Amino acid sequence: MCGQPAVLLQRYSGAHLCGEHAQRSVEKRVTKEMARDKLRRGDVVVVAVSGGKDSVCALRFARRYLAPAGVEVRAVTVDEGIASYRPAGIEVAASHCKELDVPHEVVRDRDAFGVTMDEASQRLEGAAPCSPCGVFRRTLLNKAAREHGAARLVTGHNLDDLAQSVLMNVLRGDAARLARLGRHEARDGLVPRSTPLRMVPEREVALYAHLQGWAVHNEECPYAVLAQRRGVRDTLLELEEREPGTRHALVAFLDKVQPALAREPSLGAELRACLTCGEPTSGERCQACAMAERVRA
Ligand SMILES: [Zn+2]
Ligand SMILES: [Zn+2]
Repeated sequence: MCGQPAVLLQRYSGAHLCGEHAQRSVEKRVTKEMARDKLRRGDVVVVAVSGGKDSVCALRFARRYLAPAGVEVRAVTVDEGIASYRPAGIEVAASHCKELDVPHEVVRDRDAFGVTMDEASQRLEGAAPCSPCGVFRRTLLNKAAREHGAARLVTGHNLDDLAQSVLMNVLRGDAARLARLGRHEARDGLVPRSTPLRMVPEREVALYAHLQGWAVHNEECPYAVLAQRRGVRDTLLELEEREPGTRHALVAFLDKVQPALAREPSLGAELRACLTCGEPTSGERCQACAMAERVRA
């Protein structure tokens, strides 16, 4: 594009980009996505920070682009209780927050649900604890964001994450979860999400963090090898290789069908308070309470 040596080939766009242009390209998509949130001076956002590259970028972008506009940025980290993995991530998250002067809170599965993911995996007899882990994480992040009075919960989900989720829910026939994947407005105790990296492929997020010299927690969760998501990830990368733009197409599909799905009462559009914990749910008891019962001793 500019005569500098390329560090990135965007096959889906056909562009060869140097380091500078690769970064500008990420920033352009991030700021465009952030503008859609229509945040105002005095609003609070809570960024979910695990310490991985995606969440570190989300935090840094929120601080860079939202804070100067008078939006207050805070950070929350979920400690799932995975002894060989989580402490290093918390450390990375804490050090970015300290450097950026962002208030940082750590919330723990153990405190909220009485169980760590290490214990849960034993009780599931070695099966991946990914589904309780995901349910607990979403519940804790939403609760923390609501308690902070946040206008948005910012997460680091990138294009690959989102495309994987679309494909996974289609493969499982889970239209209700597909309905909850897209953008939604605040309702009944549910804080709306903000996903500034949703149009940026994982590889480009990693390149951006690397070019900026940001410290990130690069380990993979020890339970990820057992997860269904891993197979979907590999399949999707193969499809993308053969047909560049597949991930974009999956996200475009979500954006087209999601508004109609979200209004569909049979897909859990109506929320009420969980009879056990009071968190928003489409049934009588929330998934987190049901899961906690299953994996607790
Ligand atoms: Zn260039
Ligand atoms: Zn509940």
